[in-house]
Amino acid sequence: MSPTIATPHCSSCLRLMQNRTFQHCAWCGHAVPATLLFTAEEIAEVHERARVEKKKADALSANGKSSVASGGIDASDVVDIVDGIAQALDLSDLF
Ligand SMILES: [Zn+2]
Repeated sequence: MSPTIATPHCSSCLRLMQNRTFQHCAWCGHAVPATLLFTAEEIAEVHERARVEKKKADALSANGKSSVASGGIDASDVVDIVDGIAQALDLSDLF
């Protein structure tokens, strides 16, 4: 039989502990017994996992950047707009 690993409850307010890396209950601020806290290794693992997940998310958004960067206007669009304005005004008539 494997031991049951249940999410512990705060001994003061009896609510579920949301984050076992904090030394105080997120609900009532009651000090959490060290036995219920993650160990330094477990906290490091949680942080490492978060770092990897963020890296993945950053890589995904970087991949999609080329078409949507800075509002979707790039230098060639600006040149097209300037050309369009020059043609619309037909600047050659001014001289
Ligand atoms: Zn509490």
